[in-house]
Amino acid sequence: MKILLIEDDASLRSFMRVLLNAQGYETIEASNGRQGITLSLSYAFDIIILDLGLPDIDGLEVLSQIRPFVQCSIIIVSARDKENDKITALDSGADDYLTKPFSAQELLARLRVGLRHRPIQKQEVETRIQIKDLCVDFEKHSCMVSDQEIHLTPIEFQVLGILMLHHGKVMTHHNLVKQVWGEGSLDSDIQTLRVTMANLRRKIELNPAQPKYILTEIGIGYRFIEN
Ligand code: CA
Repeated sequence: MKILLIEDDASLRSFMRVLLNAQGYETIEASNGRQGITLSLSYAFDIIILDLGLPDIDGLEVLSQIRPFVQCSIIIVSARDKENDKITALDSGADDYLTKPFSAQELLARLRVGLRHRPIQKQEVETRIQIKDLCVDFEKHSCMVSDQEIHLTPIEFQVLGILMLHHGKVMTHHNLVKQVWGEGSLDSDIQTLRVTMANLRRKIELNPAQPKYILTEIGIGYRFIEN
């Protein structure tokens, strides 16, 4: 597994290098955006970790230049107060994000998800997906929680299905709305999504205030919790 680290902070880069090498991942490093673009396009990486705040060009610009040409997952690294940049990055084709400062465990968890969601593996059509005690069958259009059938509306079923298919990965409001209501979806659909999510949680979660399945990424979207 080969990972590209595009990060100008030398100490953070070395933290990631040591951690990833110890896990058996090979790492290549870029300390600025231009170097990152060149390396991204020169080698086949399994994951690219991209810092948004780079000294020469903005990480979002790096993303837009490399996304059309690289197949692998791109994980954004960004400061906590840059929520809008994260959303823009996710909607521009980044696969996930890490908020600085992050722990070794968080980084490794995101990598596992990123590696699983490589496009090659996405080809297989899943008709049934079970995570923990929640099972969705796309052919039968059914949802079971602990072997109990749960009745969902078509929209609730669709939202749950999308989140489960991308389990572990954050899905932005915009991305979800686009997949459910189509390209011409409106901002008002985001409000409908919130209502749908509240209803869905009431149906599948034992305690909707402490969700076991669907996590809210505040200001960004939702993530189906893996474990
Ligand atoms: Ca930086």
